[in-house]
Amino acid sequence: QARESDDTRYRFFTPALNESLSRRILVEQALRQALGYNEFQLVYQPQVKLDDNQVVGVEALLRWYNPKLGQVPPDQFIPIAEEDGQILPIGLWVLEEACRQLAAWRELGFNPVMSVNLSARQLRTHELHTQLQRLLEKYQLPSGQLELELTERAVLDTSHPQVRQSLAVVEELGVGLALDDFGTGYSSLRYLTEHPFNVLKIDKSFVQALPERDREYTLVAALIAIAHKLGMDVVAEGVETAEQLAILQSLQCPVVQGYYFSRPLAPDDLLARLERRGQHWQLAL
Ligand code: C2E
Ligand code: MG
Ligand code: MG
Ligand code: MG
Repeated sequence: QARESDDTRYRFFTPALNESLSRRILVEQALRQALGYNEFQLVYQPQVKLDDNQVVGVEALLRWYNPKLGQVPPDQFIPIAEEDGQILPIGLWVLEEACRQLAAWRELGFNPVMSVNLSARQLRTHELHTQLQRLLEKYQLPSGQLELELTERAVLDTSHPQVRQSLAVVEELGVGLALDDFGTGYSSLRYLTEHPFNVLKIDKSFVQALPERDREYTLVAALIAIAHKLGMDVVAEGVETAEQLAILQSLQCPVVQGYYFSRPLAPDDLLARLERRGQHWQLAL
């Protein structure tokens, strides 16, 4: 009996395994040429301040379309790019493109904070300082209008002297730092005190559990309170329903991001959804 089912499993899994392995190799190869072929694009998801509905920030999110592989989601290709080092040139492209876009929006009077995801690998290079300085200068950006999102995983390695150095340099430049996906990885409350984070991003898994689960509700309420007391801003991620929004509002969460307001959008599509009210830009709902 047991043998037979083992055998079935064996026959069943091998082709699938091969398939995922060869897909990985295809992704790896295609990734190496993706920058050269201009296959990357950034989309932007608005961050909305709840007391006046102003779009106070946008998060830049990377998209990759390859003619053979189709649209490959970042959760699939970024880990691969991190492993083989491709994330360094790709990450630099992301930073530059986000800065270029921000400068273009500033010309129109739209002044959101531009939030860019950075991977651990980028923190471990010596070049981050000069790269940031060069971009701020080239696009004439106030450093406070740029923000870098790091996950707990990325700052885990703080014994690495370069990681500490990079975080210090970002702080010194006046570029913002957001702690992304808070509460999911190797969470330690120490990250909140040991590193110069300005923003705490509450992970969508907590937000999405909000209406039904008491424990998550209590945790989110406590996180918002802790962040306030530490002088940090809070962004709740992954808000999809009016109910989640109402709860966050009652907890005085200052800023939210999620499909309820908008999916990540190409720059023109985002502009088309914005309404200008004096200096404020809001989403037309
Ligand atoms: P993240 O930084 O936590 O980004 C938020 C993710 O949640 C995005 O997925 C976004 O599209 C998605 N999201 C936003 N609102 C909602 C919602 O209401 N419901 C749900 N279910 N999802 C929502 P995306 O764009 O697929 O990115 C996935 C992850 O890939 C990001 O998570 C980030 O860790 C990474 N990533 C994306 N772009 C970059 C980049 O340029 N550089 C690096 N290093 N990582 C990136
Ligand atoms: Mg992020
Ligand atoms: Mg996140
Ligand atoms: Mg994430």
